[in-house]
Amino acid sequence: MDTDSLNPELEALKLQALGCVKCDLSKSRTQVVFGEGYPYADILFIGEGPGYYEDVKGRPFVGRAGQLLDKILSACGFSRSENVYIANILKCRPPGNRDPLPGERELCMPYLMQQIELINPKIIILLGAVALKALIDPEAKITKVRGSWLEWKGRQVMPVYHPAALLRNQALKRDAWEDYKKVVYKYRELVDPDHHSAHV
Ligand code: SF4
Repeated sequence: MDTDSLNPELEALKLQALGCVKCDLSKSRTQVVFGEGYPYADILFIGEGPGYYEDVKGRPFVGRAGQLLDKILSACGFSRSENVYIANILKCRPPGNRDPLPGERELCMPYLMQQIELINPKIIILLGAVALKALIDPEAKITKVRGSWLEWKGRQVMPVYHPAALLRNQALKRDAWEDYKKVVYKYRELVDPDHHSAHV
């Protein structure tokens, strides 16, 4: 799926990122994972960075965690093609899926900041601690703030558990679903009062 061409400035940014060699991850990556979804989406999901499958396929969230995310999106009545865009803090896979180094994050974040400006989402969902710390507060704890709405640059932002955490610990799923229900309510409030979800 490549709908970025519907947003020419986003497409230009993607082309720039695909050739990026600003940090050493460019030497070990297979592909840059820029992000995907509806290029003017009202909801932007932000994860940490590409893992093994994302690096191979060049698409975000396509491994087991991504499949779970797609199931959650579907239960909420959302899809990557219609109302959601998915991006990461880091566009290239860190070797062995280690956490991004501060220098890598600093060099890569301008891409994400431009994506936010160009997509212009009303709602941002931060998937996990790395996204939360990078965007909002390095001291923030995901267990404390998940499920809360924060205001950031005029946008409504909610941190939630990373889908990989839900796979590791099934007990988190109940709280996570409560968080996603709030996302559907917020979408109805800010974007589409008639938004349909079979489960919310
Ligand atoms: S991680 Fe970001 S800054 Fe580093 S090479 Fe990839 S796109 Fe460029």
